[in-house]
Amino acid sequence: MHINCIACGHRFDVGRAYDDYEGLVRCGTCRCLLDIRTQDGQMRGVRIGMLNTPVETPAPRVQTPSEQSSWGAGAQDQTPPLRVAA
Ligand SMILES: [Zn+2]
Repeated sequence: MHINCIACGHRFDVGRAYDDYEGLVRCGTCRCLLDIRTQDGQMRGVRIGMLNTPVETPAPRVQTPSEQSSWGAGAQDQTPPLRVAA
């Protein structure tokens, strides 16, 4: 299963375990998190993973530090095991 990193353009192999997968993988080149969706060894969708990534869009309201930390902890709990291609 090859994935094209949409952040740096590098192509990397994540193995057969990701032939049917939906979730986050980390690019071994730029360390960017990619949110991918694959089926039968085919890429169905890829976008930049949002885990730990502050969204740089205009915020509708100001976040307090306590809200940010609680959101970060919750998001990390949902992290699937990452496998980095050798
Ligand atoms: Zn990359």
